[in-house]
Amino acid sequence: MARRKKIYEGKAKILYEGPEPGTIVQYFKDDATAFNAEKRATIDGKGVLNNRLSEFFMTGLNGIGVPTHFIKRLNMREQLVRAVEIIPIEIVVRNTAAGSISKRLGIPEGTALPRPIVEFYYKDDDLGDPIVSEEHIIAFQWASQQDLDDMVALALRVNDFMSGVMLSVGIKLVDFKIEVGRVFEGDYQRLIVADEISPDSCRLWDIKTGQKLDKDVFRRDLGNLADAYTEVAQRLGVLPKNATPMTKPTLIN
Ligand code: 5GP
Repeated sequence: MARRKKIYEGKAKILYEGPEPGTIVQYFKDDATAFNAEKRATIDGKGVLNNRLSEFFMTGLNGIGVPTHFIKRLNMREQLVRAVEIIPIEIVVRNTAAGSISKRLGIPEGTALPRPIVEFYYKDDDLGDPIVSEEHIIAFQWASQQDLDDMVALALRVNDFMSGVMLSVGIKLVDFKIEVGRVFEGDYQRLIVADEISPDSCRLWDIKTGQKLDKDVFRRDLGNLADAYTEVAQRLGVLPKNATPMTKPTLIN
């Protein structure tokens, strides 16, 4: 069997060269990290759940005309995606105060924000992904003004879609992070949603109880992370309702 070429290994995923030019195979690991990888663990089944959940969200986005890198799921842990030139900026959209905005600005967690707030973070592990302004992004040529306008538009459309989908299953979308990448099509280039959308990169709170169903369960030692992600997947119909939270999830094909 031919060995695949590994392009990149990150904290939660491995990227391999895809079968066609311009494609990549994205493999979801069970590794969980937090606080810039100071806290680490292996959570059985997390990669399988995130593969399915990211497929679910990206397919939904593609369906309403929000372009993403997702092509198709290949198996339990892998999906085929378009190769992109990644923009080195994490885009965070917040609907409710939590996490770093609460710490930085002293806004109590759970405070509804007056409007969705879009923030940018420079992707650099050594620097701990610092928050940056549009001025920094333009001045240091991480992206152009046109890219920035497109990034905000994409992020707000993802927010509208994700908020609605989660609300329909009794979950509040508190905030999330996306990454975008550039693709070239003939004489044109455009930005599309890349990386993953999963409970690793969102804050999800049960609307009635406030129970956390995202990576904060791991960051803050609030229980079993795979159970929380299984709950999200079950509510969205990605897992059968009668599947018990478990380390090796049973998936609907
Ligand atoms: P905060 O800035 O409050 O730590 O994070 C805001 C939101 O973006 C949270 O939903 C968090 O999960 C997500 N986020 C921020 N940075 C990262 C990152 O480097 N990796 C992942 N997976 N999510 C992130």
